[in-house]
Formats: sequence, C-alpha cells, structure tokens
Amino acid sequence: MTTMTKYIFITGGVISSLGKGIASASIGKILEARGLKVSLMKLDPYINVDPGTMNPYQHGEVYVTEDGSETDLDLGHYERFTRAEMTKFNNATTGQVYNAVISRERRGDYLGKTIQVIPHITGEIKDRIKKVAEVSLADIVLIEIGGTVGDIESLPFLEAARQFELDAGEKNVLYIHLTLVPYVKVADEIKTKPTQHSVQTLRQIGIQPDILICRTEKPLSDDIKEKISLFCNVRKEAVIESLDVASIYQVPSVFKGQILDEIILSHFGLISKPSDLKDWEKNVVERILSPKKTVQIAVVGKYIGLQDAYKSIYEAIIHGGIANQVKVEIKKVDSEDIERHGAEKMLKGVNAILVPGGFGSRGIEGKINAIGFARKNKIPFLGICLGMQCSVIDFSRSVCGLKGANSTEFKPKTKFAVISLLNEQKCIKDLGGTMRLGAYPCEIKKNTLASKIYQKNLISERHRHRYEFNNDFRKKLESKGLIFSGTYKKKDLVEIIELKNHPYFIAVQFHPEFKSKPDQAHPLFREFIRAAAEKR
Ligand code: GLN
Repeated sequence: MTTMTKYIFITGGVISSLGKGIASASIGKILEARGLKVSLMKLDPYINVDPGTMNPYQHGEVYVTEDGSETDLDLGHYERFTRAEMTKFNNATTGQVYNAVISRERRGDYLGKTIQVIPHITGEIKDRIKKVAEVSLADIVLIEIGGTVGDIESLPFLEAARQFELDAGEKNVLYIHLTLVPYVKVADEIKTKPTQHSVQTLRQIGIQPDILICRTEKPLSDDIKEKISLFCNVRKEAVIESLDVASIYQVPSVFKGQILDEIILSHFGLISKPSDLKDWEKNVVERILSPKKTVQIAVVGKYIGLQDAYKSIYEAIIHGGIANQVKVEIKKVDSEDIERHGAEKMLKGVNAILVPGGFGSRGIEGKINAIGFARKNKIPFLGICLGMQCSVIDFSRSVCGLKGANSTEFKPKTKFAVISLLNEQKCIKDLGGTMRLGAYPCEIKKNTLASKIYQKNLISERHRHRYEFNNDFRKKLESKGLIFSGTYKKKDLVEIIELKNHPYFIAVQFHPEFKSKPDQAHPLFREFIRAAAEKR
C-alpha cells in the first residue's frame, strides 16, 4: 500500500437508487478539479462473479472497460465524470472475492487454517482496494459500497471498510454516507428519522460517517441540518444537501457550492490548487441548460421499461445533444410494439432512430423493421452491436433478395447465415466472460462516412458480442451498395457498415457509447445528433 494514498468510502442508506454512483463520480470530479489524481472502485455485494451473465432487467447495463471486463454500470459514471480509467481492478463482487479465497484454500495456501469471513474475506476485500491504489497511483481512491446499509450481503464489505482505518491510518480514511431526507406531504415536513436510523446502523457496524450527503426534494433548513448533525454526530457543515437537479452533470457544482472538496481535503490535511470546474460548467452544464432546439430520437430496444438497461446509450445521446446544443428527447420504443403495430405507426415523426445492443430473439423482427423504415425514409440511423447485425439482416433480405437471411443466434439452421459464430468459437461452452470483449483496433476506409466522422484511419473501440458478420456474404452485399467502412484487419472482421445515398446510416459492431463523455461526445453520437437536428 502506498502510504500517501487517501481513501474515501461511500455507503448508502434508507433506500436504494439514491444515485450513489453519480455522487461518487461527482466527488471524484470536484477532487480532480483541485488538481488531484483520483480513482474509483465499486464493491458489489452479489455472488455473481461479474454482471455479464445477468439479465439487464436484473442489473441494468453491463459496462465494458478497455481491458474487456464486464462491470457494474457505475463504472460508466466514473469514466464519464472523471479522467480515471477503469480496469478489472475497479469492480469487485462477493463472487470474485470468495472465488479468490476458495481457490487459495484449495491450493493449500492457508496452511491448515480455518477460513473465515474475518479475517480472510475482509482481508481479500482490503487487498483489492489497495490494488486499485497501487495500479492507479491515485492520490485519492473512492470506494463505493453497493447496496444499502443494513443489508446482510454488504456486511463483509462494510467490515472491511471499518478495518481499513487500522491499516491506512485514521487521517487517511474518510467515510461518506448518502441518505434520503424525505418530505412528507401530509405533514408538510422534512423527516430526518430515516437518516438517523441509517447512521445508527452504520455506527453499530463500527463506522462513524464523517460526511452525510442528504438527497432531498426540498432545501434543508438550518434547523434540519443542525438536527441531523446532532443526532448523527456529524459536523453541521459536513451535512451536505443534495437537492434534485435537472441534469446529473450539475451534481459536481452542487457539491462544490457547499465546499465539499474543501471539507475532504482538510480532513486529509491535503493542500492543493483552487478548484477549477469552469470548463465543465461552461461546456457541459450551461449547454444542457440552454438548448437551441429539441430533437426526438427513438431508441428501439427490448429492455425499454428499465431506465438503467441502456444507461451509456442514453448518456451518449445526451452528450451528442450537448455537443450540438440541442435538447434530446428520447422516445423509448419497445421493438415488440413495432412487431404488433408496425414501424410507421411507432416511429413516424422521430428525427432519428437508434437500435442498441442486445441478446436473444425476442423483439428482433421489430428491430429489423425499424431499421428498414430508417433506411427507406432516409431517417438518420445509428446501429450498435446487435443493431449492426440487424442492419445486415435487413439489407440482405430487402435489398439483396436473400429471403429469410438471419443470424444463427436466432435461427441456427438459417439458409443465409449472414451473422454467425467464427469456427474457433463453436466449441466454447461457458457463458461467463467468453465473448469478444474490450478494446480492438479498427481500420477505417478512406472517403467513407466513417472516415468523415472519425477523421482518422485507425480507431479503437470496445466490444461485447459473440456473433460476427459472415464474410461469405461480403461481395454480394457490397455489390448491392452496402459499404464496409471499418474492419479489424488481423482477423478480417467487419466492424462498421454504412449506406450510400442516405443522410446518416451507419452501424457498428462495437459499443461507442462506453467512450462518450459529456464534454467530449463520441463522434458517432455527435454526428448522429447533428444529422437528427438537420433532419428536423
Ligand atoms: N447478441 C449479439 C452477439 O452476441 C449482439 C451482442 C450485443 O449487442 N452486445 O453477437
């Protein structure tokens, strides 16, 4: 462990979905604005080794890092808000922790000892936190603990957080607790009791929070802050109000406005340069709050009911809006509704259509129809991963006359398998961690839409898929006007396709949404929203 590193633990209380990930990322941001190097880490209490095998309805999006780890979507917030680069070390689950300890036990590394939660499981958790400090060389590591205080599952993580002070020294560790201070309408009152109870539970575990961040829909009066301070044993200025805001990208300014950065630095005894959030406030917040016009973007998927399932896609669309100073209104369209009611009815009037990634056959025909609708009506279209595969299917069937063309994922015995597995993949049996994952280079063909968008010949993008375009059909599709504008040369895999004579029709096998940032929209999204605004 580097002796200089400082550690901030962020826990959550009262209810889930308070925005712990965004709070953690925003704290990272205001510390970066003070010239410090930060890294962030998420500890997830579930037993899955990673979220890769979980249904998006269970867990939300799976965020993929450069090194090909399938991680919690909070890592997406960390990368969008800060300069920290996420790797496999930045997300640890109960499953991984036990896996590591049990493998060691089987090897006989523990020399006959009884293996217990304390000290072995908590020791493994602490080692993983120290590893982040070691590989990131950060001044401050922020560790977000998933779940809500009081859950059985998160106890070993909280115990490790408590012990951490003994390892790193009291002055080097800080505890922040995020809670809800609800407003009760019938009583017209703000209630502090849930926060008191949540802090009590934390103190029973042995953790006294240094800072409370209070999520609230009404401003907290001085009296309320005093009361929280007294009952929770937290200094009044360290009771931070986190009012609902229009955009998540305003949260760093909300925290900075209450000198949260200063409170943290003075706890650690760190001296640093004055805060500089100017660029962020000008290039992100101000632009979000003063759009010139509104465009409507349809996202056609099958996990439409859950806000978190396409998190990075929605954020990247918002980034495209920021870059063009337009407000984006996202119309979430269930692809099965397109199957039921037709593309015309569901998509008429939208300024652009995006088909995101996905797995399994449910809703596929609806996506294919949506793409055909965008192609024929010259509506700007961006296809991502499964969205590219469906674009190939649409083009093969409708333009090349390959009736019944399909992906072997949905129809293993299809006559025209335009999307299929590579031979080398056919013997893989395990589902977890066996896809094409993480960053791969892609060469871009000159004089194409892709080269105009990227302004580069060689790019690198992140992947998460099993199936690929089947090169047996390349010539045929090319002869009918499909342009293969990006390939992974080493294996001759198709990465980008596009259409001629269309204002914006591009589809990619990779996931550009993972690399988009609010102040640096991904070029594919920036130009997509530009095309949508022009269409309008
Ligand atoms: N199901 C497709 C595949 O595995 C697409 C995956 C995705 O969209 N992420 O290749």
